[in-house]
Amino acid sequence: MPLFNALARSLDPLHGAQAATRQAFDHWYRQAKIPQIRYVAFLTMALYLMYAAIEQNVASEQVSARFIVHGLMVPGALLAVGLLSFQPNRQRTMFAILTVAPVCTAAANLHFNFGTPLFVHYAPELYLNLMWTFAVSGLTLRQALATASASVLVILVVTLGHSLEPGMQRLHLIWILASFSFGLLSAFLLERVHKRMFLHQDSLALSASIDSLTGLWNRARTLHFLAEEAARADRYGTPFSVVLIDIDHFKSVNDTHGHAAGDSVLRQFAGLLRDGVRVVDRVGRLGGEEFLIVLPQTDAEHAEQAMQALQTRINGFSFDRVQRKSASFGIAEYRRGESIDSLMERADQAMYRAKANGRDRIEIL
Ligand code: GH3
Ligand code: MG
Ligand code: MG
Repeated sequence: MPLFNALARSLDPLHGAQAATRQAFDHWYRQAKIPQIRYVAFLTMALYLMYAAIEQNVASEQVSARFIVHGLMVPGALLAVGLLSFQPNRQRTMFAILTVAPVCTAAANLHFNFGTPLFVHYAPELYLNLMWTFAVSGLTLRQALATASASVLVILVVTLGHSLEPGMQRLHLIWILASFSFGLLSAFLLERVHKRMFLHQDSLALSASIDSLTGLWNRARTLHFLAEEAARADRYGTPFSVVLIDIDHFKSVNDTHGHAAGDSVLRQFAGLLRDGVRVVDRVGRLGGEEFLIVLPQTDAEHAEQAMQALQTRINGFSFDRVQRKSASFGIAEYRRGESIDSLMERADQAMYRAKANGRDRIEIL
C-alpha cells in the first residue's frame, strides 16, 4: 500500500490531498493558464486568417464554405476566447468554446478534404490540432483529454473507411498516435510540475504565517485575521472580541532557569491557549510572551467566560521547571466601524489594567 501511494503520488502529486486543496489547485491552475490561453488564441487566429487566404488560392471546391469556416468562424471563435479571457466571470464560456472548437475544426477539415486527392496536404491540420489541444491551447489535462479524444473519435470514424490506400492509412494512424501521445505526455508532465509548484507554494505560504517557536499563527497572520473579522463585523453586524494575553513575571523564568526553560514555558503556554479555545478562534503570538486571541461571533461577556475557563486551565497546569505560571488578560469587543489600532489599544489598556490590579486577572475595556 505505501508503494502504491508513492507511485500514485509520483504520477499525481495531489494524490491523497484534501478536496479543498484540489479545488484550490484547480482554481489556481486555471487562473495561471489565462495569459497562455489569451495569447495562443490571438496567434492561432492570425494563423487561421493566413491559412484561409492561402486556401482561397489553392482550393478548387467549396471555396466560399471554406472561407466561412477558416476565415470567419474559427478566427471568430478564437477572438471570442481571447476577449473573454479578460473577463473573470465569463471564463466558463471561454473554456466551453475552447473545448468544443478543436473538435469542430477537425470535423470541418474532414468534411472539406477527406476523399479528395488533396487530403494528404490538409491532413497535417488534424495532427497539429491534437498537439495544439494538449500542449498549446492552455486547456487543463482533463479538458484537453476530453477534447482530443473527441477529435480522434471523429477522425477515426470518418477515415477508417477505405478511401485511403492501406499504406497511407497506416501512416495516417501513426501520425494520429504520435500527435496524441506526445500531446498527452507533455500536458501530463506540465500539469504534474504545476501541482508540485502549487504544493511548494502552499507550504511556503503556511510557514510564512506560523510562529516557529510555538507553532501558533505569527503576528502578521494574526493581525490579518483580525482585519478580516473586522470587515465581516462591519458588513454583517456580528460581534467579535479580541483578548491580549501576557504571561506574568516571565522575565524571572529566563533569569532563574535560563532561556531554554523560558522557550519551553512559551511552547507549553501556547499549547494551553490553542487547546483551550474553540476551533474557530484564532490564536497567535504577537511576540515575546504576548499572545492574541480573536474570538469570532463573541461579545465581551462571552469572551470573559471563555477566558475564565482558560485562566483556570493555566492556573492548574504544571509547567516544566517553573510549575505555576499565571497571565493577565485584556478583553475588547469590537465596536462597529472602529479602527484595528483603536481596538488593539483598548485590549492593551485592559491588559495593563489587569497587570496594575495585581496580575492573574481578566479586565474588559
Ligand atoms: P509582566 O508580568 O509585567 O508582564 O512581567 P514580565 O517579566 O513578563 O514582562 P517583561 O516584558 O519585562 O519581560 C518579558 C520577557 O520575555 C523579556 C524577554 O527576555 C522574554 N522573552 C521575550 N521573547 C522571548 C522568547 O522568545 N524566549 C524566551 N525564553 N524569552 C523571551
Ligand atoms: Mg510583555
Ligand atoms: Mg509579561
